[in-house]
Amino acid sequence: MSNIQALRGTRDILPDEVTVWQHVESVARDILNRAAYREIRPPMFEQTELFARGIGEATDVVGKEMYSFEDRGGRSITLRPEITAGLVRAFIGNKLYASGGVQRLWHTGPAFRYERPQKGRQRQFHQLDVEILGSRDPRADVEVIAIATDILQSLGLKSLTLDLNSVGSGADRQVYRDALVNYLTPYRDELDGDSQARLTRNPLRILDSKDSRTQEIVNDAPSLLDHLSDDSQRHFNQVQQQLSALGIDFTINPRLVRGLDYYTHTAFEIMSADLGAQATVCGGGRYDGLVQQLGGPDVPAIGFAIGLERLTILLQQLQSTPVPALDFYIVSRGEKAEPATTVLAQKLRHAGFSVEIDLSASAFGKQFKRADRSGAIGCLILGDAEAEANTVQLKWLSSGDQSELSQTDLIRQADSLKNKLATLRQ
Ligand code: ATP
Ligand code: MG
Repeated sequence: MSNIQALRGTRDILPDEVTVWQHVESVARDILNRAAYREIRPPMFEQTELFARGIGEATDVVGKEMYSFEDRGGRSITLRPEITAGLVRAFIGNKLYASGGVQRLWHTGPAFRYERPQKGRQRQFHQLDVEILGSRDPRADVEVIAIATDILQSLGLKSLTLDLNSVGSGADRQVYRDALVNYLTPYRDELDGDSQARLTRNPLRILDSKDSRTQEIVNDAPSLLDHLSDDSQRHFNQVQQQLSALGIDFTINPRLVRGLDYYTHTAFEIMSADLGAQATVCGGGRYDGLVQQLGGPDVPAIGFAIGLERLTILLQQLQSTPVPALDFYIVSRGEKAEPATTVLAQKLRHAGFSVEIDLSASAFGKQFKRADRSGAIGCLILGDAEAEANTVQLKWLSSGDQSELSQTDLIRQADSLKNKLATLRQ
C-alpha cells in the first residue's frame, strides 16, 4: 500500500519550527494586549456567499482561489480564504456594534486558497488578522500600521519597507475609474488577458498587474491620488503626518490597490527584500463599506493581515528565536529507581521546573548521551541506592559538576535552583 501524503500546498509544522510560531504568537499577543485588542475566534468555514459578497466576485480570491464545496445538506460552503470577512460577519451577527463604541479585535489561524504552491505561497496558510471596527479617525489607520510595524520589528526583522496609498472614497473611485478606463481603452489590445477582462469588471486592479507591457502602459495612467476629494486628501495627510511623528518611514505608492473590493482610503503593504517573489508580509487598509455591504450598520473599519508563513521564513533566516531549554533530564536504572522517577518528576513540575524522564531503561551511558542531546541544563540521576535513601545525584551538564542531595532538599531549594538555572541558561 502506498503512503498517504500531505496534500499539495499544505505542510506539517514540525516541533522544532513550532517554537518559532509560538514566539511570533507570544510577541504579537503581548503587543495586542497592551493596545487593548481582544481575541475573537470565528469558525474556519462559512457560507460561500459571505466571501462572494464580502471580497467581491471580480477578485482572484473569489474567482479562482476558493475552496468551495457542497455539504451534505446541499449548502454551498467555503473554507475561509482570509479572516476579515468572517470576523465582520461575527461582528454583525453578534451585534458587537451595539455598544456604539470602537471594537479592537484580532484573530490568528489558517486560511485556504487554491493557488500554485511556491515559497511563501501555500494552499493552507496562516494569517494574523487585526481590525478596528467603528472608527473613521485617521488615528485608527495609524494605530494598526504602528502595531503591524511593532510586531515585525519586535521580532527583529529588518529591511522592511512600508508602502502607503489612499484609494479614496467610493465616490472618488467612481470618478477615477472613468478616467482610468478612458485612458486604458485605446490600449486594450496591448493589455494582458487578465487586464483586458478587468477593464470592464475591476479596472483598478489593472494597476497592480505584473505583466511588463501592461505596467508600461499603466505608468502613464492618471493617478488615483489626483482624484481624491478634499476630505479624502485631508484624511491621507493626517495619516502621513502621524506616521512621521511615530518615526515610521513609508513610501507613497499610487499603484498600490489591494486585491479586495471593499477597501477605501488608506491601503498599505509591508514588504521584505529577503523573501524573493512573495515579498509582501503584511497587507491592510481601510474598508468603510464592508460592514454595510454584509448587511450590518454603517460601521467603518480598518485592519491588516500578516502572512505567518512568510514571516516565519524571515525569522528562520535570522535564526534569532530563543529555544526554551529544558531544566532537568532524569536518568534512572533499577527496579526501585525507575518508578521513583515518576513521583520526582511530578514534584519538580509542580514546583515550576521543566522535566523530561528518560523512559528507555537502557544502560546509564546511553541515557547520559540522550541527556546531553536533550539540551537540558541539569541531569538528575537515580539508581536504586538513591531511591532507597530518597536522594538524587544532580549533575550540571555544562560543567560536569555533580553532587548528591536529598529529594526533599531539591524541592525545598527550588528558588535557589531556579536562580542557578537562570545563570546557566545565559
Ligand atoms: P499575494 O499578492 O502575495 O497573493 P494577497 O494580496 O493575495 O497576496 P492578502 O489577501 O492581502 O494577500 O493576504 C494578506 C497576507 O497573507 C499576504 O500579504 C501574504 O503575506 C499572506 N498570504 C496570502 N495568500 C497566501 C498564500 N497562498 N500562502 C501564504 N501566504 C499568503
Ligand atoms: Mg493572492
